[in-house]
Amino acid sequence: MPAMDDDAQRARVNERIAEVESLLAAHAEGSKPVELDQQRVGRLSRMDAIQAQAMHRETERRRRVELMRLKSALTRLDEGMYGDCVACGESIAERRLENDPGATVCIECARVAERR
Ligand SMILES: [Zn+2]
Repeated sequence: MPAMDDDAQRARVNERIAEVESLLAAHAEGSKPVELDQQRVGRLSRMDAIQAQAMHRETERRRRVELMRLKSALTRLDEGMYGDCVACGESIAERRLENDPGATVCIECARVAERR
């Protein structure tokens, strides 16, 4: 598959940014503090609510990290560095970028980092 041109790559990054931002916006609705009113929720369901909220926060945290990576991908596009692995300098596989437009390292370097 031929490498995508910068405009197509930028469009893909921007598309993903819009997607993550709308997920975060929708998510904010569910981020209200756990209702601690014992009369409304029993102890068990309160625990469930706290647990659900913790998972909720984790999802949100991950999305914020992804958003930061996507924004830095735009900077790399501006600098002509997009698609190059920041660790080894090799090109990141097109399929990997398609999956994760904010990817900063190639699959080999990602595997090495995972093993650490
Ligand atoms: Zn690499």
